[in-house]
Amino acid sequence: MYLPFVMYGYAATLTLVLVGCWLIRQVIPGLRGVRTLSAAIAATMLAVVLIGLRLWVPAFFTILLGNGALIFAFILIYLATARVLGDKPRFLSGLIALFLLDLPPYCYTTWIHPSLLARIWLCNGVMAIVATATGVLLFRHRPSSLSVRALGALQMGTAGINLARCVVNTVHPPGDFVHSDWIRTALTYGEFIFFLGTVCGILWLALCRNREELEQAARTDSLTGLLNRRAFDEILVREFERARFAGERMGIILLDLDRFKSINDTYGHAAGDEVLRRISGLLQQGTRPSDVLARYGGEEFVLLLRGAQLEEVRAVAERLRRSIEESLAGPSALQITTSLGMAVAEPEESAEDLIDRCDQALYASKRAGRNQVTEGATHETLDSAPPLQAEPH
Ligand code: GH3
Ligand code: MG
Ligand code: MG
Repeated sequence: MYLPFVMYGYAATLTLVLVGCWLIRQVIPGLRGVRTLSAAIAATMLAVVLIGLRLWVPAFFTILLGNGALIFAFILIYLATARVLGDKPRFLSGLIALFLLDLPPYCYTTWIHPSLLARIWLCNGVMAIVATATGVLLFRHRPSSLSVRALGALQMGTAGINLARCVVNTVHPPGDFVHSDWIRTALTYGEFIFFLGTVCGILWLALCRNREELEQAARTDSLTGLLNRRAFDEILVREFERARFAGERMGIILLDLDRFKSINDTYGHAAGDEVLRRISGLLQQGTRPSDVLARYGGEEFVLLLRGAQLEEVRAVAERLRRSIEESLAGPSALQITTSLGMAVAEPEESAEDLIDRCDQALYASKRAGRNQVTEGATHETLDSAPPLQAEPH
């Protein structure tokens, strides 16, 4: 096979891939790792064009720069993978050192004591090491997934192809570099296919990660970092089914800060935000890892307690009320209190009814003078309660 033709085909395909990466970056700006991946593709393209010009251009460009660009592209693939995974590129300095250490013997075997076989070991050996480092990075990543492991396997395959090239050239010493035999051509094609697979794999991981981050953002309240109402409602429905199936109890506590509007009116909205942040931190400290805490509305929070009995829920609600009362959470050590409504799911009760009972109990706490906990009553009891009167703040 005439090597320049193989290389030009390779370069033309890489041009299309590079355009594809550019388009993806335009459509989804901020995709992590894709810029580094594009640099790796560009470096590979430079390498294959230079190697393809072997017959016509001086060795400095085609041998030294061409193979240097190839190793550099592999290092960029390692870096792009680490960026997409959000992992630290621990081996990066070691790989760069290896690349620099490789240059003097490479120059020696190019000009002083020319040896194609030695250069193949120096170039493909280092590429095998870099691909192995990328594979290790992927296999050690947690949480693992099928696509992460598949990309890891692709890197190990790439390392294997590069080692195979070293071994094949040692067993059958290279003759005419430009007219390579079928084994060497197959290895070149194999490497090309694995490289394209790697590019697709990294792009896929970058898109998956981007989607996960968007989903996470859609579920999070940006002010407090707690779950938002939408996320809580989803979890509530799921937990409700699970608890019913497992025959477990489940408690809900609704909290509403008292006279919060006056804090905004007196100290400003920014101070109000700071109070909300501090209160959410306080609530997080006062809950178990198995509890689900969310910002339910403006100055309302909700807590789901898995497997909790009525007494436990009441104790938690009372503890939270006291901790907020004693927190002096606001500007100038301002005291703030909260009203709470709580209930434990009854058999045959729906999630909406349970929340409704908590809500009614919360308003009963407000009616009764605020800064207190009220237990959710049955609907009959609440029907007979007087309506909430608007009070001046
Ligand atoms: P009550 O004791 O009856 O609950 O009185 P309240 O003032 O807390 O209740 P009201 O519903 O009258 O006012 C709620 C206030 O919460 C009004 C709104 O400006 C404020 N608020 C809601 N969300 C935010 C927020 O994200 N940041 C700030 N700073 N204030 C908020
Ligand atoms: Mg409110
Ligand atoms: Mg309020």
